[in-house]
Amino acid sequence: MKKVIIVGAGLAGSYIATLFPSDYDITIITKKTRLDSNSMLAQGGVAAALDKGDSPQEHEKDTLKAGNYHNDKQAVKQLVNLGPKLIDNLISQGMNFDRSSDGQLAFGLEGAHSFHRILHAQGDQTGHELTKFVQSIIRNDIKWEENTTVLDLVIEKGECKGVVTKNKNGKVTVKYADFTVLASGGLGHLYPLTTNDQTITGDGIALAFRNNVELKDMAYVQFHPTLLTKKGKCYGLITEAIRGAGAILIDENGNKIMQNTPQKDLAPRDVVTRKLKAWQQKGHKLFLDISHIQSFKQKFPGVTRNLINHQIDFETTKKIPIQPGAHFFMGGIKTNLEAQTSIRRLYAIGEVACNGVHGANRLASNSLLDCLVSADKAAQSIMQAPSNNNKNFVQYDDLTYKSNIEPVLPSKDELLEKTWKQIGVVRSKNNLNIFLKWLDKFNYKELSPEKISSENLTITNLCICAELIAKSALAQPKSLGANYIKGV
Ligand SMILES: Cc1cc2nc3c(=O)[nH]c(=O)nc-3n(C[C@H](O)[C@H](O)[C@H](O)COP(=O)(O)OP(=O)(O)OC[C@H]3O[C@@H](n4cnc5c(N)ncnc54)[C@H](O)[C@@H]3O)c2cc1C
Repeated sequence: MKKVIIVGAGLAGSYIATLFPSDYDITIITKKTRLDSNSMLAQGGVAAALDKGDSPQEHEKDTLKAGNYHNDKQAVKQLVNLGPKLIDNLISQGMNFDRSSDGQLAFGLEGAHSFHRILHAQGDQTGHELTKFVQSIIRNDIKWEENTTVLDLVIEKGECKGVVTKNKNGKVTVKYADFTVLASGGLGHLYPLTTNDQTITGDGIALAFRNNVELKDMAYVQFHPTLLTKKGKCYGLITEAIRGAGAILIDENGNKIMQNTPQKDLAPRDVVTRKLKAWQQKGHKLFLDISHIQSFKQKFPGVTRNLINHQIDFETTKKIPIQPGAHFFMGGIKTNLEAQTSIRRLYAIGEVACNGVHGANRLASNSLLDCLVSADKAAQSIMQAPSNNNKNFVQYDDLTYKSNIEPVLPSKDELLEKTWKQIGVVRSKNNLNIFLKWLDKFNYKELSPEKISSENLTITNLCICAELIAKSALAQPKSLGANYIKGV
């Protein structure tokens, strides 16, 4: 029986768990519960060229253009061609996407898409509906280990043999598997303003780095233009679909901020975000004017609930206060088209992986689709590969680990203040160098993840991600997409 460990219970991790036959021994390990992930928060939808007049070729063109042609062309082809088939398959298994009154699938529009090709479920609840549906078709005999954090990989002779975990009682265990699939998501909490779930702290990237797993495109962090903000704090995402439905970015005087930019309010995210940042730096406040949208509450029930919960008077003012913030990570663990990493028997899927599909800037609603496609490819590859001989779970105490070192780390607040200013939306060579010099004072790379507190582990993982982003940004010959370096 082949053993597969899946790290993470978002769409990528949950979906791959549905793809193996019943003679596979599958364990899903996840940091909190199966409901805690970015996938559960996705509002906008999932892109698939399924409407009449649209085609995978058109979707491919839009994806490459948004990605500043930095994308891996084969990965994009795979996404736009295989994606719709997987969506069709989920529909035939019972997944309900929203339909128009004639019963046909209803397609929405988002930034930088030239066709209406975004499928929604329950309006702006797509990620929640899709992930819950996928979790509902996971076999009953699959093991769930919730409230368990994966700390490290077990790698011997260039081959991944499993993972080291810590449960909520602090018990550290080594778990062996024939195949390990990382589906642990991105790194949104490296920044103080983010749309991401609390559990998304760059763990997968950090454990890959510790084990010399190859990484790619680390410079490219996507900042979303419209986070709901009140008194400088973020209270979730205001989906781009709202601009797709006619909302306009304005300042406190009603000036239309994107008026003179090609594609206006639906320009690629990096373009909109930089424009908003520049406007903000001139002392303006930022809003989304929703006065042109009919039946806003019906179309966007999740956003409406969030606005009401945070006492935003959008019904009278027709305005939502917003700011840009960290949203998605285009870089990650380098994989090929089969989701294989540089280490044998180690796979990476979804946001933690970088197969090059998103290039320098992700096209809206392509990431849920990539979760399905990369999971499907990984499952096919695993099913074709032979099992290995290490089949027994052993206790952590049986293994020899690194020595204790006293952590010298910044506080999380201090780190996040610096990441926002120095490796955020607008970067400069000078700031990147200053940031790296500051990070150099700390010993995060020498600490054993098993020996430090959970809080320090998070700071350690974030420091590793921050260093990799700054170094990768500095190494790029020119500004491209989400990696914008002033004057370069
Ligand atoms: C607010 C919001 C809205 C979005 N809207 C859209 C949209 O409309 N369309 C679209 O295509 N994309 C959207 N995205 C992006 C998309 O949701 C994500 O890219 C995608 O869901 C990532 O899925 P994933 O399975 O790779 O990771 P996630 O869904 O983030 O899941 C990662 C899982 O790994 C777990 N984990 C993390 N570290 C560890 C560890 N050390 N040990 C164990 N478990 C761990 C996490 O708890 C989580 O369960 C949105 C993102 C956000 C935050």
